[in-house]
Amino acid sequence: MQTNFAPDLLAQPAMQSSESIIRKCVHCGFCTATCPTYVLLGDELDSPRGRIYLMKDMLENERVPTPEVVKHIDRCLSCLSCMTTCPSGVNYMHLVDHARAYIHSHYQRPLVERFYRALLAFVLPHRGRFRAALRLAPLARPFLPVLDKVAALRPLAAMLALAPTGLRPMPSTVSSTVRGAKGRVAMLQGCAEPALRPEFREAAVRLLNRRGFDVTFAAGEGCCGALVHHMGHETAALEAARRNVDAWTREIDAHALDAIIVTTSGCGTTIKDYGFMLREDPDYAAKAQRVSELAKDISEFLDGVGLPQSTGDRPALTVAYHAACSLQHGQHVTDAPKRLLAQAGFAVRTPTEAHLCCGSAGTYNILQPEIAGQLGDRKTANIERLRPDVIVTGNIGCAMQIGQRTALPVVHTVELLDWATGGPVPAALAHLPLKGTLS
Ligand code: SF4
Ligand code: SF4
Repeated sequence: MQTNFAPDLLAQPAMQSSESIIRKCVHCGFCTATCPTYVLLGDELDSPRGRIYLMKDMLENERVPTPEVVKHIDRCLSCLSCMTTCPSGVNYMHLVDHARAYIHSHYQRPLVERFYRALLAFVLPHRGRFRAALRLAPLARPFLPVLDKVAALRPLAAMLALAPTGLRPMPSTVSSTVRGAKGRVAMLQGCAEPALRPEFREAAVRLLNRRGFDVTFAAGEGCCGALVHHMGHETAALEAARRNVDAWTREIDAHALDAIIVTTSGCGTTIKDYGFMLREDPDYAAKAQRVSELAKDISEFLDGVGLPQSTGDRPALTVAYHAACSLQHGQHVTDAPKRLLAQAGFAVRTPTEAHLCCGSAGTYNILQPEIAGQLGDRKTANIERLRPDVIVTGNIGCAMQIGQRTALPVVHTVELLDWATGGPVPAALAHLPLKGTLS
């Protein structure tokens, strides 16, 4: 695509990066067919190609974003399906991240939108605040049907609908060591996942220990910054990135680390991008790049080091594998989770339209509840058509979004792998009449 950025604009690293991304787009439109919002809405401006035109015009001409442009950019899920499809290597992720930061600094949103965005940025990335909000949720839940009827209150209704009915204690952050360990990894503590489904991390730690790895949690580390990054809060996202880079650098310098393990793929995509996000910061660029290179999704790491020995006495369950967009499109980890589950003895099935987002997408299902709801229903119907015993995914957002729409149990990949190699029955399966054993 031909561009016409003024030389002084190109002196800004973010503009320079976006200009070179836009130039790669050859307008072929292949990406439109795999874009969830285009598939649903059929509007070119809700397709990757249409959004690239909008972002080009906004950035190149330093325009104040109009409500119309913001609407179409806001509707983008950042699912990155377009990047998987694009034959020209357009890095849509870096372009839309820049556009969102530009909108945040150049556009005054209506008061209601500002309120929700500020609320989400204040609560979600902080484990303590998020837990407190989850404790209060049952008090407001009876009002959910009323809130859902008022457009301005629908994001509140979406938040309440996502809150679990019972809260388990947060998982331990004490380092877990094994005799004669073959290596040492740090695990992301995260923000939403341990508050919502602490059993995910517990299973991952047991599995890594059983495979011979010490697991540590870096002091001072917290939310990866993805939630605020996707809302365009660049300063807050970079603060989170620097804080985590510092925490993991202390660990790397004190004792070598084989990997930084991530059990929420949405966070993994962002941590793997820290090197790019902090590329212009001379104090952090090299350290951030080192952290990004060490970051591994738990399934990616286990696929490399191998599973512990299977105990072979688990039921032969049929598993529907839901590929989180952040894992399949953001990190290109596609076969590893399915391969591991098959190795552990589960019959793995993949739903049709596996490339399409479930609508979770960070805070998308709260800020865009209508589109997210349609995508969630469509995804869940495709999964249920497989008639599985259990749904498996590697991202807490997807687990909540799909779990809200089905009676089937939804677990993390590591819970099944842990179970198959000597761990306990996953909590979500504990009530099922489990018959038969793996061969
Ligand atoms: S990131 Fe997803 S929703 Fe956004 S333009 Fe690309 S395919 Fe469409
Ligand atoms: S597939 Fe790639 S090159 Fe083609 S229109 Fe989409 S972003 Fe542009």
